[in-house]
Amino acid sequence: MAETERRTESGHGPEGHGGRGAFAGHPAAAARFVADDARAHWHDQALWWVRQKRDKASSEVPDWERLRELAQEIKGHTLSRLADYLVEFEGNAAAHGARVHWARDAAEHNAVVHRILAERGVTRLVKSKSMLTEECGLNPFLEARGIEVVDTDLGERIVQLREEPPSHIVFPAIHLKRQDIGVTFHEKLGTEQGASDPKYLTEAARGHLRARFLGAQAGMTGVNFAVADTGAFVVCTNEGNADMGTSLPPIHIACMGLEKIVPRAEDLGVFLRLLARSATGQPVTTYSTHFLGPRPGGELHVVIVDNGRSELLRSQALRRSLACIRCGACMNTCPVFRRSGGYSYAWTIPGPIGSVLAAGRDPAAHASLPFASSLCGSCDDVCPVKIPLHDQLLARRRELVRSGRQPLSKRLAMRLARVFLGHRALYELAGRLARFLLRSAPPGLLRGRWNAWARQRELPPAPAESFRDLWRRRKEGGHGQP
Ligand code: SF4
Repeated sequence: MAETERRTESGHGPEGHGGRGAFAGHPAAAARFVADDARAHWHDQALWWVRQKRDKASSEVPDWERLRELAQEIKGHTLSRLADYLVEFEGNAAAHGARVHWARDAAEHNAVVHRILAERGVTRLVKSKSMLTEECGLNPFLEARGIEVVDTDLGERIVQLREEPPSHIVFPAIHLKRQDIGVTFHEKLGTEQGASDPKYLTEAARGHLRARFLGAQAGMTGVNFAVADTGAFVVCTNEGNADMGTSLPPIHIACMGLEKIVPRAEDLGVFLRLLARSATGQPVTTYSTHFLGPRPGGELHVVIVDNGRSELLRSQALRRSLACIRCGACMNTCPVFRRSGGYSYAWTIPGPIGSVLAAGRDPAAHASLPFASSLCGSCDDVCPVKIPLHDQLLARRRELVRSGRQPLSKRLAMRLARVFLGHRALYELAGRLARFLLRSAPPGLLRGRWNAWARQRELPPAPAESFRDLWRRRKEGGHGQP
């Protein structure tokens, strides 16, 4: 099921908070988000605070940059021999009793998971956070077949109760204030009306989830890292919900994108140090649980999913985006993401990396996303695996332009710009005309609906002379270089 369809089905349209209908592009969705100025400001500040925590945590590691280089090298090497490492992982995992399944796409992934559950009569599943299952639209798929799916990560459970998708890959409910959560819990869990104390609400969620853990017949997790040379995999959570969900029920299903593989167990020392610091600014994730084979008397299934990843691997320009370890740091630092919110991307993975991935998966629907960036390069600076995100966004822009997926207005504007920038006399004439209009035209004309740039900004006062005029005048006046 396409992501856009899934979001609309879940009652949370891709255009933003509570919106419905087809995705009209990032600018329209972002306009809805920033219409609530206080919330947009608060969202910006909340994520900037996380970014600062990340800076502090990374600065306390003397060899941080070396770690990033190592991670980049390990991922680069792994991607160059991905098939070999996946087969090695499969063999070692199977040797320890796990059953490994392969899925070409989201539909196959969902069918495999459903078959495992249906064959064992499972009707109650608890799930820890997995962006892959979000990507595949697993929850509605299973629910439509009579299986109750309970997300057990607190943020995920909050958005699930609200019938919304996560708005951030690490902080799924970052767009909500505690008062919003208080209202949701009052409606869905019967907490006191108006209660918004975080401790009280967390206790309520704990009691609610405990009953689900105890009643579950199977547990599902994502995979942060799968280790080829041992057949083990690691799941990182801060709440211990993956451990509860896999310790109580006898069946554990772990779903992983095929890029989650690392060659050796010792590589984990690099990635685990980078992941927690980049994601939340913690020195280490509270629970980094290593799974190797099923627990005694239990079953362990690992579903390895492609769903467009091989396609990305084939692209010389974009394959490095497969190195992503889903830390969310590029989102927390991105000025566009912080001020436009996760729902403005209408894709499971938002922000800079999401824009690269979504535009490849469905260029028609997501042609606006690679342009939702100032190309400031802050995402490159924080990415723990050194993905050149701004280069990748540019590569996606080039693809979209070459395939004619830009609006006519933009294409015409670019053609016009090429004419003016290619002819000096025309360029100077345009400058003079613009300065004249800025000084003389009625403000209503300049700030009309046609001028998207001026909607959110003040137009600068027109300078009396151009930079060229100033340069010439000062040179002629014997002032040397201005
Ligand atoms: S692209 Fe880099 S910074 Fe962004 S989520 Fe992935 S690993 Fe983290």
